[in-house]
Amino acid sequence: MRHERRLSLLYSPKYWLFLTLFCLLTASIVVYLGKQQLASAPSLEQKNEQFAAAKQTAAPVLRNALDFHMTDFEQGWLRYTDGMMKTEDGGVHWQETEASVPSEPAPGNEAADAAVLGLVDLSKYQQLSNLTFGSKVYAIKKIQFLTDRIGWALVEEPEELKIPLLVTADGGQTWSDEVTSAIRGAMLEEKARLQQLKKEAALYPSADIAKASIRAEWTVLPDTSAPGDVVLVRHNKPGKIEWLGKTYTLQPFGSGYFTYLPITMQAKPGKYPIGDQTLTIQAKKFDTQYLKVTQQMESMRQDTARIQADQKKINLARSKSEPEFLFSGPFVQPVEGVLTTPYGYTRYVNGKYDSAHMAIDLAAKEGTPIKATNDGVVALADSLYLTGNAIYIDHGMGLFSQYAHLSELRVKTGDKVKQGDIIGLVGTTGFSTGPHLHFAFWAHNVQVNPDLFFNTTPFQWLKAKE
Ligand SMILES: [Zn+2]
Repeated sequence: MRHERRLSLLYSPKYWLFLTLFCLLTASIVVYLGKQQLASAPSLEQKNEQFAAAKQTAAPVLRNALDFHMTDFEQGWLRYTDGMMKTEDGGVHWQETEASVPSEPAPGNEAADAAVLGLVDLSKYQQLSNLTFGSKVYAIKKIQFLTDRIGWALVEEPEELKIPLLVTADGGQTWSDEVTSAIRGAMLEEKARLQQLKKEAALYPSADIAKASIRAEWTVLPDTSAPGDVVLVRHNKPGKIEWLGKTYTLQPFGSGYFTYLPITMQAKPGKYPIGDQTLTIQAKKFDTQYLKVTQQMESMRQDTARIQADQKKINLARSKSEPEFLFSGPFVQPVEGVLTTPYGYTRYVNGKYDSAHMAIDLAAKEGTPIKATNDGVVALADSLYLTGNAIYIDHGMGLFSQYAHLSELRVKTGDKVKQGDIIGLVGTTGFSTGPHLHFAFWAHNVQVNPDLFFNTTPFQWLKAKE
């Protein structure tokens, strides 16, 4: 009976329904739990993203920086045990790079030039062994300065820092772990200053002479002179110089302030203080020349109206000069010729005292090409009464060269010329007795000795002092 009943249960539809439901429930619980477990485990993609994020935020702190170098105010690298970073904006941004450590930059880059020009005393900074940033003192692993103001230091144990490389814009007084806009501004200022300095330094005969002049308060080039000559003065600040009854304003160029000082023929020999320097004027004797001209020529000089009209044009042309030295190489003699009247000769015309001839006369065949003595701007190219076809070239900072009696002008007012450019041809126009070039230099409207300039420049005159 009992046995039968059990069997009957087995065949009961209720029993099968219950069993099916139980199985379904168990299966869904298993599936649910499995899903839960899978959801909490990150996918491979997620793993990679998390790793990358951790690496990015932690890179400068956790990675061990070994070395760095700033090539200039823009380019630099930072080497870690496991890679390299580089910057192209002076450390404002750093990016991972595949490149290996670049080789040392060739001389000519800003960092090298700064040291050559004495802008940075490397030994002074190499002695530093630690620095303070925030409230912590850091040991310095490596330090580098580009100028006396701008420097970087790689420090030990930089856990709290954004980057292990600290930067200063005040010569190491204060340090920062980021290149702020103020620090970047200071870098660009220093870069501009260095460029100005390089421009000036290139004009001196040597790096040592450049350094000496740039570091001095006053420089007189040269420190010995004579009546009719000219000197160039450099000061490290703007200002004015009172000189032989006139005032000369020092004009900015490169990293200094300059003016030509013409030594007039009336200047007395002696020693003259110029700032903290002394200019010695030595006595000089000038010869006399007697010239015979025709009555017709002599009468030319009575037409004062024409002469004065020309003088107005000339004065206007020489009244403004470019605010920089326009030359980079030496001045050249404009024509090979026979020197018929040297500079400074006292001249008598038809037995009467005429003037001191403050130019040189170079006799040459009519039509001989005339070279520009140096780079400049044509301030005047015109047919004038006494000087005939004449050219004035502005060489900047108040210095002009003059070419007179040309048969032909090959330039016009406003033209830019380079040293050696053919500007005209030798002739005998105006008050002239035969084909020759009358050649003069004017410094602040005073005629000065052309012989001082040939094959040199005023910046090279310092050589005499060294
Ligand atoms: Zn002359």
